[in-house]
Amino acid sequence: MKKTHEIKEVIDIPLAERRYLVKEKLKLKKRILFISPFFILFFSFITFTIKNYLKINTANLENAKESDSSLLGHLPYKETTKEKLVFIEPHIWVHKDMSQALLQMQADAKKEGVFLVFLSGFRSIKLQDEIFYSLKSIRNQIASERARVSAPPGYSEHSTGFAIDIGDANRRETDFEVEFENTIAFRWLKNNAAKYHFRLSFNKNNQNVDYEPWHWRYEGSIEALKAFEASNRKLKMLSN
Ligand SMILES: [Zn+2]
Repeated sequence: MKKTHEIKEVIDIPLAERRYLVKEKLKLKKRILFISPFFILFFSFITFTIKNYLKINTANLENAKESDSSLLGHLPYKETTKEKLVFIEPHIWVHKDMSQALLQMQADAKKEGVFLVFLSGFRSIKLQDEIFYSLKSIRNQIASERARVSAPPGYSEHSTGFAIDIGDANRRETDFEVEFENTIAFRWLKNNAAKYHFRLSFNKNNQNVDYEPWHWRYEGSIEALKAFEASNRKLKMLSN
């Protein structure tokens, strides 16, 4: 009953008034059409901002996780197994993945009159432990001071077998010294090492670890890349 009453009421509206209502309806439609792109834009912006916020937060969380696992600026590294090591010269063992590239690099440098000498390759966590604690006490240094020049045991790239300390055979006084950066050997390495998949591990931007121009690491195999994944992410962040 009520319904028929309502219909009657609508029909009862005079024609002029009905036209006015239709016009108003059209105006409203136009307004909605005009405003809707702004609404879409506004909502897209909000969605974009929220997504970005979540992304940044996830990245921060990952960074926090990483810095949690690092010790005095050094990342943790597992010791490689004996089966993966090869002997390249007296006292120098390296990961079999990098041995060929390393020897090739040395041979190619020699052809250009540059004599690279290998100072230290694989180091077990046990040996790293001895180096870290004995030198710390000999030099009367606290752990954080020692960590600037030597990684704590379990945190050395040398444990992976993919790190090598290199010197200049004609400038042995520069072994393990920053002065090594002024040798022909270092200049040659800087210009050529990447061709053999070697890169400098501790550059001048590092806040916790001193610059080590003699310390290079191999990134030419999947296993090596996996070992240095966290470190490379950190380096990328620092360079951004
Ligand atoms: Zn080293």
